[in-house]
Amino acid sequence: MKKVKVRFAPSPTGPLHIGGARSALFNHLFAVHQDGEMVLRIEDTDLDRSRREYEEEIIDSLKWLGINWTEGVDVGGENEPYRQTERRVIYEDYANKLIESGQAYYCFCTEEELEAERQALLAEGQIVRYSGKCRHLEQEEIAQKIESGIKPAIRFKVPANKIYVVNDLVRGRISFESDNEGDFIIIKSDGLPTYNFAVVIDDVLMGISHVIRAEEHLSNTPRQLMIYDALNFKRPDFAHISLILGSDRQKMSKRHGATSLIQYREMGYLPEALFNFLALMGWSPEGEKEVLSGEEISGAFTLDRVAKSPAVFDLNKLNWLNQQYIKKLELEELKNLLVPYMRDSDFAEEIEKLDEIKLYMLIKAVRDHLICLADIKKELRVFFADLQYEEEALEVLREPGVLEVLQYFTNNFPPELNVEIINEFIKKIRKELKLKPRNVFMPLRCSLSGKTHGPELPYLISIWGQGECLRRIRQSMDLIMEGKE
Ligand code: GLU
Repeated sequence: MKKVKVRFAPSPTGPLHIGGARSALFNHLFAVHQDGEMVLRIEDTDLDRSRREYEEEIIDSLKWLGINWTEGVDVGGENEPYRQTERRVIYEDYANKLIESGQAYYCFCTEEELEAERQALLAEGQIVRYSGKCRHLEQEEIAQKIESGIKPAIRFKVPANKIYVVNDLVRGRISFESDNEGDFIIIKSDGLPTYNFAVVIDDVLMGISHVIRAEEHLSNTPRQLMIYDALNFKRPDFAHISLILGSDRQKMSKRHGATSLIQYREMGYLPEALFNFLALMGWSPEGEKEVLSGEEISGAFTLDRVAKSPAVFDLNKLNWLNQQYIKKLELEELKNLLVPYMRDSDFAEEIEKLDEIKLYMLIKAVRDHLICLADIKKELRVFFADLQYEEEALEVLREPGVLEVLQYFTNNFPPELNVEIINEFIKKIRKELKLKPRNVFMPLRCSLSGKTHGPELPYLISIWGQGECLRRIRQSMDLIMEGKE
């Protein structure tokens, strides 16, 4: 069996998006499963849109997600360089070979000429493709034009009447007719290669065995197959993975919320959760289990379980997965992850003043409510914002018997606090006043926090301590008394 070698080849024209991350991940999983290798190549031939900052951001996002490669732009390797703009001479060389063998030619058509040709075809209702005008220029004419300073593009001569077939590992057998394609540019007049040309040269020279990429590149595949054949290159296997749709089944876009990995990272989605989530977008293992470790996923990952139908981005599922991963974290790890968000909240000062024990208590109190790490910012409100009452809480405070509970709580507040002591204390209130649990819990919760729901009461009480608890109870008692006047 041939050694598996895959590549991820992003264009650094923006941050890494969910779709790109999923393509990178499928390549990674396939390589790990097959004990193969992965290359990271940067396709930066669009000079207007490519930026070095994006390249760095993409690499950062990939590493954060847990994807690694053995060869590529940042780690080097035997096929350097890994940025296409640094490989121009290689492409030129192959383009010249195609010219020599009569399979490509210089094209001197200007933008304006091409546009006029395009408009004329559109007006006649014909398929828009290059007329082949420069196909038959005489050698002399070519030399003259070049000498006069005109920079030509190089076009590939599309063979007539040929059928190109690919056995896509996800989509099955697909055939393309060459007659649907006009002669296409392989080297632009500025000397840079086009994507369809450079990608083939690089995949071959870098020894890529499997090209796994987004379905939107399927339409590019016929042109690439033509180049493979024209240069007598052995083709890799292809696997085109389906589109990602938003929940409304439209192509995923900014309208559907965050699309870049950085945004998810900043919101506090854990890389393990996104890894798990992205793997399940278009691939499914046998069985029902959905929370899967990286090893479990790569251990089970095969292309025959990748779906042909579009994957739907289900934010609820991502949220659920992230919650599962947050619950699984060791408390200390979770604390380290949460502290930067807390410091960035409205309550940074209060957090600075908390001792370690209380900080841990606070985290324990809220961890099950966190969908993502940034949620801690709003969770902190209940601990540190001024006491404000929700309507439901006010209703509870208006119930009979509440004042007695609050009075008892104030008069018998334990001198020392921890979760156990508070639980005992609450039990004692119930017994002494002969009340049902709800009739103790709810008045205390509502008068202390102003809400009917929230973190467990013993944690809240421990963190506030006696002074703050009694101040809050006093405020609520005053409110109840006012209502009675
Ligand atoms: N540079 C292309 C992209 O970012 C890569 C396509 C491919 O994998 O062949 O979409």
